[in-house]
Amino acid sequence: MAEHAAQKKGILGWYFGTNLLARISIGMIAGAAVGIFLAYIPSLAGPFVGYTKFFGDVFIRLLQMIVVPVIFFSLITGAAGIDPARLGRVGLKTLFFYFILVIVALCIGLAMANLFKPGDGLNLAADAAVQGKTAAAPALSSIFLNIVPTNPFDALAKGQVLPIIFFALTFGIALSIVRDSSDERLSKPADALYRVCSACAETMYKLVGGIMQYAPIGIFVLISNVFATQGPKVVGPLIFILAIAYVSFALHVVVGFGGAIALHGLSFGKFLRGAQGAMITAFVTRSSNATLPVFMRVSEENLGVPRSISSFTLPIGATINMDGTAIYLSLCSMFIGFAIGKPLTFEQQITVMITASLGAVGAAGVPGAGVIMLLMVLESIGLKIEAGSAVAAAYAMMLGIDALMDMGRTCLNVTGDIVAAVVVSKHEKELDLEKWRKE
Ligand code: ASP
Repeated sequence: MAEHAAQKKGILGWYFGTNLLARISIGMIAGAAVGIFLAYIPSLAGPFVGYTKFFGDVFIRLLQMIVVPVIFFSLITGAAGIDPARLGRVGLKTLFFYFILVIVALCIGLAMANLFKPGDGLNLAADAAVQGKTAAAPALSSIFLNIVPTNPFDALAKGQVLPIIFFALTFGIALSIVRDSSDERLSKPADALYRVCSACAETMYKLVGGIMQYAPIGIFVLISNVFATQGPKVVGPLIFILAIAYVSFALHVVVGFGGAIALHGLSFGKFLRGAQGAMITAFVTRSSNATLPVFMRVSEENLGVPRSISSFTLPIGATINMDGTAIYLSLCSMFIGFAIGKPLTFEQQITVMITASLGAVGAAGVPGAGVIMLLMVLESIGLKIEAGSAVAAAYAMMLGIDALMDMGRTCLNVTGDIVAAVVVSKHEKELDLEKWRKE
């Protein structure tokens, strides 16, 4: 008995003591191996899927549970955290620059997906059990109008993402103005409310962390079920989408970032040499927030960005400027559309551009935030994740390779923040050009 308890503690101890990324990788590889094995023995595959499906569905439901509160509280906190007085010239320039680059990123993502059609032919929807579970996409004209909720509480209850984002952003901006009021009777409670929202956002991130502890098991089950029912034919498309993502990331670095730096008369080679420490840290930590101290340092020490600009633009950039996440969201939504045999229409792709750019703003700078935002982008184009649906199967495939995707997109997110800080400093004639001259 005591021996049994010790052994149990040993397994749990091993589970919680092992690095999460390693566990997720084990879950994914083991899930793929078990699934491929079962695909060849249909008499075993059926019962296996029947018994294990529950554990995968629980994971999907846990993720669904947190989408609305994560978006709501992190956007209010993000918007209310910007001091209105500082939203002056530098702020507008920075935001404008973020906007241009995210559009370039999304165009690259969508163009690459239209060109290479990742996931095409996977035909996940051909599975009889999942047919008919994909909803129709809304028309373009109504998308814009429906962004404004008639009743924010109704939108929250129904999980309508775009109206929630709209309300949270406007609420956050208004809250930041009230917080800044000279009348203490207003500013004090507003500040308290801001702190409450910020604490709620932090609590949600903690919850995400807790749910991710279950991710290796959820991913094992989801991936094994996909492979057991679909067979090994899904391996190729996964490698393909990863390759397309990294080629798109590289394209954006050269075209978007390289172009912006060169347009300002600076050397891109020198930029990369100066920024590389932060880029590598972002790649391995998969967190813009965690990399913030590093990229603040390299921007100032290696690239000559003044403190007055870096201290303002970089923390905001780490939270809202995510070109890598935007590319990822556009590519993966296209992949899922192809994989379920319903390629996205032009209207749906426009909606993806809107929701992916907002999703990139709303994603926290922590590992795995992008894949949660993917749920929101999918919902906006009528691809609801329901347990057992083709969309859920395709989403599970994305979850399985998320760590690999996250490394690339976080690296891009951080690089974009540094590019913006350099370019805005150059515009403001505050960039220390000495740093760019010396070898
Ligand atoms: N991990 C990314 C970041 O920190 C966000 C994401 O998951 O897309 O920038």
